[in-house]
Amino acid sequence: MLNPSKFKTSLVTLLFFTSITLEAKEVDLIPYEKVSDDFYVLLADGYGSNVGIKVTNDGLIIVDTMLAKSNQSLMATIESISEKPAKLVVNTHDHMDHTGNNKSFIELGAAKHTHGEMSNNDLNIVTTNVASHSSNDLLVYFPDSNVLMMGDSFTNNWYPTFWAGGLAGQTVIIDKALELANKDTTVVPGHGFITNTEGLKRYKENATNWVNRIMELHHQGLSTEDIAKDEALNNLLKRFANGVRPVKDLKRMMEHFINKTIEVELKLSTK
Ligand SMILES: [Zn+2]
Repeated sequence: MLNPSKFKTSLVTLLFFTSITLEAKEVDLIPYEKVSDDFYVLLADGYGSNVGIKVTNDGLIIVDTMLAKSNQSLMATIESISEKPAKLVVNTHDHMDHTGNNKSFIELGAAKHTHGEMSNNDLNIVTTNVASHSSNDLLVYFPDSNVLMMGDSFTNNWYPTFWAGGLAGQTVIIDKALELANKDTTVVPGHGFITNTEGLKRYKENATNWVNRIMELHHQGLSTEDIAKDEALNNLLKRFANGVRPVKDLKRMMEHFINKTIEVELKLSTK
C-alpha cells in the first residue's frame, strides 16, 4: 500500500526542487472534470492521454498515466483531488503517452494491473482479444460510477488510429463498448473530449465512412494526394476529428493518415 506520508514528502520535495531550480516556477495543474461523485477525468491536452481517477474507500484507481514529462503536474493534480493513496494503476494499452508515470505510482505503493479481466462493483476490465489501436487494447469500465475508459480505440480530436487491427478490430471493440455502456454512461476517449454512447456511435459511423471512402478512391487508382483533396473525405474529417490538433502541415498529416489507413487495410485484407 501507498504510505500517504511518503507521498506528501515526495511532493514537498518536488515542489522544493522546482522552486530552487526553476526559479519558483509553479507546477501547472491539469484541467479535469468531475463526472460522478467519485470519478474524475484529467484532460490530455498537452500532457499525454486522458486519465481516469476512481476514488474508492481504500484508495484511488488510476487509468492511464500520461507522458513522463507531465509527472509533476499529474501528481500535484491528483493530490489536489484526493489525499487518498493510489492503490491500482491500469493502462488501456502500453503506449508511452498512457504509461509514462506508472513507475511513480508503483514506487508509492500502488499495484499494477498486468493482464486479464477483472470484475467487481468498482471496476470491470474487459479484454476483447482483438487488436485495434494496439495489439492489446482494454476497455476499462466502472459500473458504480458508470464511466467507460476507451483508450485509443476511440479518439475524437484526431484521425482514427486502428493500426494494429484495422477498422474491423476497432469495430469489434466499439461494439463491445456499446454492449457494456448504457445511455447514461460517461464515455472517455484516449484523447479528446468526454462524451456518451451517442458520441461513440457517431465516431464509429464516421470512422467507417472514412475508411470506406479512402479504400474506394484507392481502388479507383487515385493517388494519396488526390484522395486527400476529396471533398467528402474532408467533410467527414471535420465531423469526426472535431478540432483536429493544430499541426504545422495539415496536408502532409492528412496524406500520412490516408497512407497508413490504406497500408493497414490492405495488409489485413490479404491475411
Ligand atoms: Zn494515446
